[in-house]
Amino acid sequence: MKRRPAFTVIGAGLVGALLARLLALRGLAVEVFEKRPDPRLDGFTGGRSINLALAERGLKALRTAGLAESALAQAVMMRGRMIHAGAGNAELHRYGVDDREVLWSLSRAALNRLLIDAAEAAGARFHFGQALVGVDFSRRRLRLADGRGIAREVEAGVWLGADGAGSALRAAMAEVTPLGEHIEPLDHGYKELTIAPRHPGPGGRDGERFALEPHALHIWPRGGYMCIALPNADGSFTVTLFLPLTGEGASFARLADPAAAEAFFAADFPDLLPLIPRFATDYAAHPVGRLATLRLAHWHLDDRAVLLGDAAHAIVPFHGQGMNCGFEDALLLSDLLADTAPATAFAEFQRLRQPQADAIARMALENYREMRDGVVDPHYLARRALGLR
Ligand code: FAD
Repeated sequence: MKRRPAFTVIGAGLVGALLARLLALRGLAVEVFEKRPDPRLDGFTGGRSINLALAERGLKALRTAGLAESALAQAVMMRGRMIHAGAGNAELHRYGVDDREVLWSLSRAALNRLLIDAAEAAGARFHFGQALVGVDFSRRRLRLADGRGIAREVEAGVWLGADGAGSALRAAMAEVTPLGEHIEPLDHGYKELTIAPRHPGPGGRDGERFALEPHALHIWPRGGYMCIALPNADGSFTVTLFLPLTGEGASFARLADPAAAEAFFAADFPDLLPLIPRFATDYAAHPVGRLATLRLAHWHLDDRAVLLGDAAHAIVPFHGQGMNCGFEDALLLSDLLADTAPATAFAEFQRLRQPQADAIARMALENYREMRDGVVDPHYLARRALGLR
């Protein structure tokens, strides 16, 4: 008879892959099922942001997983927010007094590959191109479908759902017991654009590859909307335009045509537009991403299944803490599961993490207002001058 694996992780995104690594390091048997193909072979097709800000909370989990150094080797340090208030003015607001308090900009694809490699090296087994499509909780079996839709059933151990905001495991759990799900969509969406790297001539310094200050998270606040840009290690920046989806003023609905969007950028982001050489192509090709806050009353189903990361608490990205928060989840859950029976571990996990997730969800929504207008608000600047944040 086939041995039943101890832990079955659904989703090999950032949180699922880190969790698999942490559990496998403790000698626990881990199987991971991921809907997408292997990003190490077929290229990364993750639909969310191209790069992300890694903060101390996430870094702590990576340190425990023995991966902080390899992650930081691929990252660009960001010392603070560089505010582009208009008329070509830019001012750096540091995150802390020195370089001990910084954020790190990382490629999502590179980080995901690193985590999968590390989890595999620790003994976790990955199955790519296998989407969870159904669960039979009483028989402890799950139904998986490959890229062609061909389904199969496998026996599974305890289920750990790291399959993101649209979690299939969450949907299956909700069929068995009400989870108290509440989804609050944001009326603003986002679109990503690219600032190309420069090509310094012979003898040119490394920093000259960047068209803007590399060690900053750039923000162009414009009241009802904004652009931000995070540096990439190759000298490029990923720009994210956050804009209302619809409405009377500037919105994605009104700026569906790339030529109209370019004219809007020329008027509102005149210093940024010349840095985006493929503006019209990027704008036409990249979809408008939707954002929402997900709150759940119940994160687990007795001793059988638990949700973590975006599957349990998706938040809007304005504090750059979604992944960081998910990494904290993975760290705590792996600690609890190493010593405690699943039902107790899951209940304790929710007890400790839910207040944290609720708090960051609230702060992320508040921070959108601060980023798009508060960062140039005179009250904000006065508070900063007094050392208050
Ligand atoms: P996901 O990254 O969504 O991964 C889920 C995985 O599950 C995917 O690989 C998916 O293919 C797989 N999957 C889905 N369905 C199934 C299925 N049925 N069967 C099997 N597998 C499945 N966070 C930060 O900390 N810092 C930032 O700077 C930051 N910036 C962001 C910018 C934007 C624009 C957005 C949208 C988000 C940002 N976030 C940031 C949040 C961050 O992206 C998420 O919190 C993080 O990706 C959550 O990781 P996860 O592994 O829980 O979910």
